[in-house]
Amino acid sequence: MTDTTHRALLQSSAVCDSMCNKHATISGQPNLSFFAQVKEFFVKMFSTVDWPPRWHCGSWTDFHGWLYILSDLSIWAAYFAIPFLLYRMVKKRKDIPFHTIFFLFIAFILLCGTTHLLDAIIFWWPAYRLSALVRMLTGIVSIFTVYALYKIMPMVYNLRTLSDVEAEITERKKAEQEAETRLVMQHAAEELMARKDEFMSIASHELKTPITSVKASLQIIERIAEKDGNMQEAAPFVSKAVKQVNKLTEIIHDLMDVTRIQGGKLELVKTEFDLMEMISEAVEQCGADDRHEVTIEGDEVVMIHADRNRLEQVVSNLLTNAFKYSDESKPVTISVAKLRDGSVKVEVIDRGIGIPTNKIEHIFDRFYRVDNSSKYFTGIGLGLYISSEIVKRHNGEIGVNSTAGEGSTFWFIV
Ligand code: ADP
Repeated sequence: MTDTTHRALLQSSAVCDSMCNKHATISGQPNLSFFAQVKEFFVKMFSTVDWPPRWHCGSWTDFHGWLYILSDLSIWAAYFAIPFLLYRMVKKRKDIPFHTIFFLFIAFILLCGTTHLLDAIIFWWPAYRLSALVRMLTGIVSIFTVYALYKIMPMVYNLRTLSDVEAEITERKKAEQEAETRLVMQHAAEELMARKDEFMSIASHELKTPITSVKASLQIIERIAEKDGNMQEAAPFVSKAVKQVNKLTEIIHDLMDVTRIQGGKLELVKTEFDLMEMISEAVEQCGADDRHEVTIEGDEVVMIHADRNRLEQVVSNLLTNAFKYSDESKPVTISVAKLRDGSVKVEVIDRGIGIPTNKIEHIFDRFYRVDNSSKYFTGIGLGLYISSEIVKRHNGEIGVNSTAGEGSTFWFIV
């Protein structure tokens, strides 16, 4: 240390001592009450007469003093830059949650910076009151910040992390892709269905004419065979051929009906008729082979207003199924009942193979056949679909109650 510096330091400590003594005298005034002290604090906020500048208090070397000052100034500079950047960030990214806590942080850091600035300035300008005030404000704001931070902590814990969001995005993309694939497959299935319908429409129309001609020819041959003794041997084969052609005709009619239903062209011709009479006729036609005992229950006459041929088609279909899907020995019952609202309920009850519960919801779908029955019984799965469409066109209801192995009750209300 040079002589001059040493002298200056001695001098400054001397100033400090004298000032400290002076200060001790002031604050030591016994008659200065607490409120008087507070008043004095604010009144003399910027007064520096009570203390020497910090340079003159104690024995600072240049290095120590400037290290203190420059460190304080750099802390202050950083503490002023951080809030500025934080503010820009919050302003730009409106989606950042918890804005209030960011503003509390900004105030807190600014005040901390100011305390450091004042600490540096005090080396020349001993504004200890102002410094205390700023420190008090910093203390208050920091307590608020701690409280606010504590309050939002549970919410922060619940915030989704980046990996959560990424996982969610991946999941969503996967779901979207699956939905897209499903849509493509659905379109493909619809297109396939449309082509199938188109094919069915063309095929059934093209088949109808030759089959009608074959049927007519066979009927003529059948009649000739009945009369001509020489053709007696051929007669059973001819009637077998007629039966098969009839079956073929039924299939073609079913296919044509499906085409009509799909095109919304299933027309109804409604008339007033006796339902019981129509049912008897249907039983006669279906049960011509007398293999099943059929009982019809209900009033003698039940007049309804509907499409006779179409409803007969429904009854015939339900009856044919009842025969087809039950043993020959098992009886079939057709029950007709008038309901309170004026409609009529027809039930076709069999004691056949029944339908498994999980298949019932699909039973009226186009081309649907229950696996086990499709193996052992002929059919193409259109009868119930057409029947349900006919009943629906009558604004009626159709359904089934069934237990596998015990039998089924198909019913419709019109
Ligand atoms: P198909 O009899 O030509 O297969 P349907 O549309 O009439 O077509 O019937 C659809 C399916 O419903 C049948 O394949 C059969 O599995 C089932 N089913 C219909 N009626 C009965 C019945 N009475 N008992 C048991 N299963 C039936």
